[in-house]
Parts: sequence; C-alpha cells; structure tokens
Amino acid sequence: MDGILALSRPRAAQSSQPRSLTRCRPPRPVAAPSHGALGRRGAKREHRESSEDSRAPRAFPAIGLGLVSVGLGVAARRVPAKYREAKTLHWAPRQLHCLQAAASKEAAEVAESEVDVVVIGSGLAGLTCAGVLAAAGKSVTVLESHYVPGGAAHTFRRRVKGIEGDFCFDSGPSLYGGLSGERTSSPLKHVYQIVGEEPEWITYDRWNAFIPEGEANAAIGYEEFVTKLLPRFGGPDAAQQWERLMKRIIPMADAICNGPPPSFVREDLGVAATLARYLTKLKSIPGGPQKLSEPFSQFLEDAQVTDPFIKNWMDMFAFLLQGLPSYGAPTSMMAYMMGDMYKKNTCLDFPKGGNEALVGALVRGVEKHAGQVLLKAHVEEVLVEGGRAAGVRLKDGRIIRAQTIVSNADWQITKSLIKPGSAPELEEYLKVTWKEYRLLKSFIHLHLGFRGDGLPTQHCEEFPAQWGVFNSWSDLEAPRNAVLVSCPSMLDPDLAPPGHHVVHAYTPATEPWEEWADLDEKSSEYKAKKREARDFLYSAVAKQVPDLEERVVLELVGTPRTHRRFLRKPAGTYGLRVQAPEMLPGHKTPLEGFHMCGDSTAPGIGVPAVVMSGHICANNILSVPEHWQILDRIKDWTTELEI
Ligand SMILES: Cc1cc2nc3c(=O)[nH]c(=O)nc-3n(C[C@H](O)[C@H](O)[C@H](O)COP(=O)(O)OP(=O)(O)OC[C@H]3O[C@@H](n4cnc5c(N)ncnc54)[C@H](O)[C@@H]3O)c2cc1C
Repeated sequence: MDGILALSRPRAAQSSQPRSLTRCRPPRPVAAPSHGALGRRGAKREHRESSEDSRAPRAFPAIGLGLVSVGLGVAARRVPAKYREAKTLHWAPRQLHCLQAAASKEAAEVAESEVDVVVIGSGLAGLTCAGVLAAAGKSVTVLESHYVPGGAAHTFRRRVKGIEGDFCFDSGPSLYGGLSGERTSSPLKHVYQIVGEEPEWITYDRWNAFIPEGEANAAIGYEEFVTKLLPRFGGPDAAQQWERLMKRIIPMADAICNGPPPSFVREDLGVAATLARYLTKLKSIPGGPQKLSEPFSQFLEDAQVTDPFIKNWMDMFAFLLQGLPSYGAPTSMMAYMMGDMYKKNTCLDFPKGGNEALVGALVRGVEKHAGQVLLKAHVEEVLVEGGRAAGVRLKDGRIIRAQTIVSNADWQITKSLIKPGSAPELEEYLKVTWKEYRLLKSFIHLHLGFRGDGLPTQHCEEFPAQWGVFNSWSDLEAPRNAVLVSCPSMLDPDLAPPGHHVVHAYTPATEPWEEWADLDEKSSEYKAKKREARDFLYSAVAKQVPDLEERVVLELVGTPRTHRRFLRKPAGTYGLRVQAPEMLPGHKTPLEGFHMCGDSTAPGIGVPAVVMSGHICANNILSVPEHWQILDRIKDWTTELEI
C-alpha cells in the first residue's frame, strides 16, 4: 500500500462534464502478452520480493540501479534548494521520484519555521481541514509521514519488466456517489467548491453482488431494484415493504440532503449564526431529530420491514459504509445513502485518475491558497508552551511553530505525540475518552495486475467494475465472509498499461489482528497464512475473471501487518466500532490550540464522514465571519429528491 514510485504523468484535465460508462465497448486491440525477459512467472516473483509486505519501504523497486543513480543526479541538480533543505517532499506526482531521491541524499538540516496552522496527517480529513483553512486565508502546513498523501485513500504504482506503463493501485476507498452532479449535498463536493479544485468524474451505473441467493447484478436506483432484484430475491410482499420503507425514508433523506449543509456546523455558540444562514432550508425530521441517531434496525422495524432479503441488503450497505450492520448504523447515514442510491437518474462516480486524482485535487486546493503539503514529514512530538500547543517537532529534528495544531492521525498515534507531563489535561482526555470504544477488525488485501485480452475493456452490465462477495448473511462481521473487489481500470483504462487491468480485493474490516500480531514475517507460518489469504481473495476476483490465475502479471498480498504499516493504523484497524446511538468525540480538546479530526472523531469512518470531520474542525478554528465567507463558496446543492 505504499506509493513509493510515482512517475511523470500530466495532471488530469479539468472538466465539469462527467464521462459516463454503461454499455460495453468492443475490446480494443491488445498486443500479444509480453512478459519481458523474466517471463510471466518471473515478473510475478520479482514483485513478490518487492511487495507491500517488505519491512522498510524501498524506493524504485521496479527500476534498475542505473536509472536510480541517474534519478539521484538529476534530482540533486534540479530540485530547488528549499525542498532539499527540509528533507521533506512537496507533493507533485510528476516530481515525486526526483524529490524522494533528493530527500534521501541530503542530510537533515534543522530549520525552524512558523505558520498559523500545522495539520498532522494528509488523510482526507486533514486535507479537508487544511484546504478550508487555507481558503480562509490561514497559512497552513500539512505534515505527512508517508511518501504519498491521502492516508487510507492513497495510491501507489508498480511496474512490471517488459510491460510499458504503470499499474496504479488504490489502497482504500473505491465506491463514490453524489460527486459528479453540480447540485449535490456531498460534503466532499462542497470542499472542492471551497478550494476551487476538483477531479474529472467518470459516471457509471452499477456494481455487482454475489450473495448467498445468487448474483444480484442491477443498476443502482429504484427501478432495477424493484423490477429485477425484489422479484427474484424478495418474499411475496417484498415490493410493498420496499415501497413503505422508501416512503418513510425519502422525507428524512430530503431533510438531510436539502437541509443546511453539514459545513455550517461548528462546536461553539457561533453555530447559532451559521445555522441562521440556512433557516429557510430547515425541514422537520419525521418522528423528530432524535430519529437520526437511532440504529437503522429500529427504523426498519418501525417501517414493518420483515422481508429477509431487504433486511440483508440494508445490513450489507450499513456494513460497507461504517463497518456495522443495521443494528449499529445511524439512521441519518442510511437515509443519506438511500436518498442518493435510490433517487431518479442516480449514478456512481469515479475520479478519473483514481484516488490519486481525488486526493490530488485536495492537495492542489491547499497549495492554491498558499498552503503546503510536506511528505516524509513524520511528526514526533506536539510542543506545548505556556499551557497551549505551540508547534511540532519532526523526526528529523526540525521544529515548525504554529498557533494551532490539528491532528488527523489516529487517536492512539495522537496520544503518543504528547510528551508525558507536558499537557496533563489533554493526556487524561486522550486516555479516558476513547477507552470506551472497541476497535473494528483489520484487512487482508490483494492487488493484482492482469492481462485483459478477451475481457470487456470497460465497465458494462456483463462486467461491472466493482463487485462484492457475501458468502453468508448470518454474520456479516465474521472473518472471511465478505470480500469487496474493485477493478478501476474498467472505469479508467489509464490506470493500467494497455491491454491490462488492476484490481484491489479486500475483506472489509473482518480480519482478526490477533491472528497476525505475533507472527514473524519471515516465518513459514506467516508465509503460509499469507498464501491462504491470497487464495481466499483470488476466489472472489475469479467470480468475474474465472481464468484469473493464468492472466496475472503482478501480485501483491497485504496482511493486517501491512495495513498497519502503510495506513498508519494501530492493530491494522479500520477504526473505532461505534454502535448507534453512540457518537464519537468532537474535534476540540482540553489543550488550547490543539484540535483533532479524522475517523477517530465524529461522525466516524467513511469518506463523507471524515470530510465532515475535517470541515467542522476547520470551522472551530475560524471566526464566525471567516466561516461565513467560506460558506459563501458552496453552490446551491438542493434538488428535488424523486424516486
Ligand atoms: C480498504 C478500505 C476501503 C475503504 N472503502 C471506502 C469506500 O468505498 N467508501 C468510503 O466512504 N470509505 C471507505 N473507506 C474508509 C475511508 O477511506 C476512511 O475512513 C478515510 O479515508 C480515513 O481518513 P482520515 O482522514 O480519517 O485518516 P487517514 O486516512 O488514516 O489519514 C491519517 C494520516 O495521518 C498520517 N499520520 C499518522 N501519524 C502521523 C505522524 N506522526 N506524522 C505525520 N503524519 C502522520 C498517516 O500517514 C495518514 O496519512 C475505506 C477504507 C479502507 C482502508
């Protein structure tokens, strides 16, 4: 899951016109498979050696030594001194390989600088927070310990000898909605509007699900669910129950999606002013606002939904969104999702260029407003002076002073950044507040590059680009039950070399960390367990690519230990297990000038949630007039919610 290798690549062209993929196109001519001097098996073996699961990230895994030396030479001459001095990297995909080389060559020079705000971590929440603050005129520096920005949403690239072009792999999220349209309540869309940067969107119509009853391949939206899935999988009155459910959920979804945007929220009295701006948009929540935080299972019960298929289908979505089935999912989240998934003319969205483009637009948003994103900038300590946060100390010894520090890192990592005794109240807060939450489980990952000859070249009904495999409904959280698969090169062919595809398959937060925690990565036990994980994930990909084994030219297997290392997640966890109506802590802390955002804070895990978290955190730092001006940038998002 590392983004060690990033080669020259032009920025994705900006366009407000989403591209749409629904029908199969004829396969484009594919060159005869070429495996280079090593042959296919050789290429596979070579990449296992330099796989994700090696102890220390290595630069230039797929390029010969000669090229590395050339890179070092070029970088030393061309990279501006200001980048080299800091031993940190400013993010720019086309320069990254040169900058990495320069950084590893230069000795660390301890410098001291000062900005308004330092954000620790470039996850989606950290970049959102930084982008909003920079757009409001604050000087902001984001410090990321990794080689690439994006945290769980980072992209990494690999090459195979003898094959021209990069295999671009996403490490995390792949399913997005509500982003391509102009009038949308998506928190991420609003952030793009605020920072004035956005990726190009590819729109598509479906994902596939292999469920215990059979293959549920239907376009998202109301129509095919009712005409294809319910008659096939539902009970005798499933259609009436679904109708009843939608009738109840749509007014709630309407109140959420067309009501005040989440970006008005701030955790102080100023919220009265920012909410007042949207008073005319306030709509009543059927049953009262407390319904929003109730578990969705209660909502289903109130709507008298008893049909096993509908209940299982809802459990599946709840589980995919935040790691818990309906019994633990807040109704607000499900209403928001269902409003988007089942409205008329709905679609799924994918960023052209993959998550690199999604994250890249946020980075550009920070930089456009004079902020900076520094990579390989691991923060080791939050400095406290006179009872307030005063700056950070990096691993290389450099100090960056700031009036405000935001930690986007996981809460346990954040805790480790506070020197014992330096901020007793904060230490106590961090020790006590998160203790009550359990951790969600971890992941096993499979990233493959494979030949695409004979397969459709693009997403279509016969070959949806994404699919899920659910072996049993009885316990979605059980290990090795569910697998999610994304083949993003079916949506954007540029993500793989011509004639090839990339795929990412993973178990969604169901892999027990304990089973991997004490294993020596060199031991035969670890290797055997890894092989078993690989075989399990292969079987899920093979649901749509039966002759997969014959096609693979590149294979990377990630275990919970890999996940922990590359996603900086203690115990490789997905995050905190929050069961509705429980809520995670907010974004302020007892230490003046120190804030937190990301999936350890409310509202929790998932792209929309962490973006909201980063936005709220930024709002807390801004004055009400500054916040108000930021809200001016959000375009009208309201739209009639029809099914
Ligand atoms: C496999 C997978 C699939 C997913 N699929 C989806 C999906 O389809 N849809 C969806 O909505 N959500 C999905 N999610 C969830 C979503 O991606 C995450 O909830 C979200 O990206 C987390 O963002 P974050 O900003 O909270 O934190 P993170 O992404 O964890 O970012 C934190 C950052 O802080 C950095 N950091 C930590 N410590 C330090 C330090 N000391 N110094 C400097 N930097 C530091 C880390 O390196 C990291 O970059 C998925 C997640 C995973 C793992």
